[in-house]
Amino acid sequence: AQLDTLDIVVLVVLLIGTVAYFTKGTYWAVQQDPYSSSLAHANGAKAGKSRNILEKMEETGKNAVVFYGSQTGTAEDYASRLAKEGQSRFGLKTMVADLEDYEYENLDEFPDDKVAFFVLATYGEGEPTDNAVEFYEFIHGDDVSFSSGKAADEKPLSTMKFVAFGLGNNTYEHYNSMVRNVTASLEKLGALKIGDAGEGDDGAGTMEEDFLAWKEPMWTALSEAMGLEEREAVYEPVFEITEEEDMSAQSDEVFLGEPNKNHLEGASKGPYNAHNPFIAPIAESKEIFHVKDRNCLHMEIDISGSNLSYTTGDHIAVWPTNPGKEVDRFLRVTGIDSKRDKVIAVKGLDPTAKVPFPSPTTYEAVVRYHMEICAPVSRQFIATLAPFSPNDSIKEEMTKMGSDKDYFQQKVSNLSVNISQLLEILSNGEAWSKIPFSLFIEGLHKIQPRYYSISSSSMVQKDKISITAVVESVEKPGAPHIVKGVTTNYLLALKQKQHGDPEPDPYGMNYALNGPRNKYDGVHVPVHVRHSNFKLPSDPSKPVIMVGPGTGVAPFRGFIQERAAQAKAGQDVGKTILFFGCRKKAEDFIYEQEWEQYKQDLGDKFEMHVAFSRDGPQKVYVQHKLKESAAEIDKLLQQKAYFYVCGDAANMAREVNTLLAQVIAEQRGVPESKGEEIVKSMRASNQYQEDVW
Ligand code: FAD
Repeated sequence: AQLDTLDIVVLVVLLIGTVAYFTKGTYWAVQQDPYSSSLAHANGAKAGKSRNILEKMEETGKNAVVFYGSQTGTAEDYASRLAKEGQSRFGLKTMVADLEDYEYENLDEFPDDKVAFFVLATYGEGEPTDNAVEFYEFIHGDDVSFSSGKAADEKPLSTMKFVAFGLGNNTYEHYNSMVRNVTASLEKLGALKIGDAGEGDDGAGTMEEDFLAWKEPMWTALSEAMGLEEREAVYEPVFEITEEEDMSAQSDEVFLGEPNKNHLEGASKGPYNAHNPFIAPIAESKEIFHVKDRNCLHMEIDISGSNLSYTTGDHIAVWPTNPGKEVDRFLRVTGIDSKRDKVIAVKGLDPTAKVPFPSPTTYEAVVRYHMEICAPVSRQFIATLAPFSPNDSIKEEMTKMGSDKDYFQQKVSNLSVNISQLLEILSNGEAWSKIPFSLFIEGLHKIQPRYYSISSSSMVQKDKISITAVVESVEKPGAPHIVKGVTTNYLLALKQKQHGDPEPDPYGMNYALNGPRNKYDGVHVPVHVRHSNFKLPSDPSKPVIMVGPGTGVAPFRGFIQERAAQAKAGQDVGKTILFFGCRKKAEDFIYEQEWEQYKQDLGDKFEMHVAFSRDGPQKVYVQHKLKESAAEIDKLLQQKAYFYVCGDAANMAREVNTLLAQVIAEQRGVPESKGEEIVKSMRASNQYQEDVW
């Protein structure tokens, strides 16, 4: 029977609906891809994105996939490095895969002549990174089920070989729990682990060295398991860079730093998220330290009309721009200064290679807006750059730095230099013009938004987000440059601009404050909001105890602002205790007057304990103040008070945890181990919450 037109229309509509349902919107999402660009679409690089990893590997001729679960980009970077090394040293056909981009129900059909790598960061309290949540729930869940229907106890993954590396921080209780749990789950399901699962420790500052030390024995084990042979590593670029002679930087289709197509094509549109920032006006900005050589910024970011929303305790992400001074240095030392405005099209030479920024663009835009050029230098990157040195003696020096850990420490890490500062020193200013630009895209991180704990209450000011940020500036004796934090100095420059400062750029940093094509003109900054679990109790009559020295007080300003407003509105607000610490009352006691106001609003419900570490003969910290209030703290905890810690993860947060266990033990007359157990169970039930960095 013939189908008439109506039938066809109905069938097509049904088909579209079905495809949309089964692909969970994947094909649709391509439209919103942050890096989607006219060229990428034209050459088909983004077309037909499949969520079937086995199919993808088959189609592209891969025998190794490196999955990553990454929050800040480090795990993603390690994944790329492993993929590249596997290919260049061992001839593996590798691809990198974002865990979020694939489904896992068919991993039980993973061929036994292939291998899967998992590079997994642990986030916060032993949690998966945002992009790994689904995978983690699938593989670590109780009722894992594969499309073939094989049950967990039938060892459905018995044909799968895997390699694993975790990125964690030993100052957290659930150190590297992602890689540990995923490894255990994969093995339980029958997968064969190759080599040891590596663990990198950010807490000890040894992440990079842990990674380098882990990967050599891993490669040996993998070579044996797969019969690979090591060959002389030859550099193969991942990206093809084409200089577009007939396009100019003024052409409408050229990205000059716009984060995506939406921003390029005019007024940006929501929804605003981690792939699409809102260019927000800074409504207000001020300095809140009273001291010459250190800065702390308070800013009010206006999100009205953006459809962005936040709740008290969330984080705001600020998208930074590199300082002009370092952009210029980079372009100069790499020998591309004279063509900084040249239009380039960047394309992955392999269909699985993702270009980490939109194209066509210019060299300058890539360096200013997309690459983390100011960060510490990695030893492996130095080894990769060595063959492209300007002359043999520099090459020798680079090779030594790349292979000798201690020498690298002495010659590079101790100087706290970034990549172009280092290259400049090594070559005495001579340009390193042999380095392929692709190598920088591969070897340097994609610039990352920085998070700030929102320091306002969404109940009090739903359209204005407050930020409290200390400006990073580290002067190391013997180091050739002062290390200036990228984002905080960018914010400082914006503040100076807003105040019409006669000297808007005190360090000659020269940020491009107006943004690409003057789109950030006025005083604007690109942002998005990240929701967090750091929350006040829904019942305001519950007591809260907050520990937040330095900028750790940021979210608590929001908490207290909220409770003061509730009290003023006649609500029953419970005891609200804040432990704050800083160096000197006259210098960095931030929001001093505001706390007085909250005391008036909250009356005896608000209590503040302040520790000044440099005001008296003895150094006093929040920990001391907590001890002094032991009896009251324990009494409130027995009344189910919520306990919050915010700020320094490395020392303070850990010490407060230990101290609280001691306080509980002493006050209740139980052994310290019991005190620790109580704190643990408080954490499990969200009665103890941390927002630390
Ligand atoms: P970066 O450029 O990222 O540099 C950071 C540090 O790295 C520098 O201080 C320096 O010591 C070191 N460094 C940089 N380059 C080099 C080099 N070449 N060699 C050696 N060392 C180097 N901060 C706040 O002030 N307030 C908050 O409320 C706040 N909340 C946060 C909440 C969360 C969830 C997280 C994760 C972080 C939070 N932070 C907060 C920290 C904030 O995100 C930034 O990390 C901080 O502001 C520094 O950013 P930056 O871009 O200025 O510095």
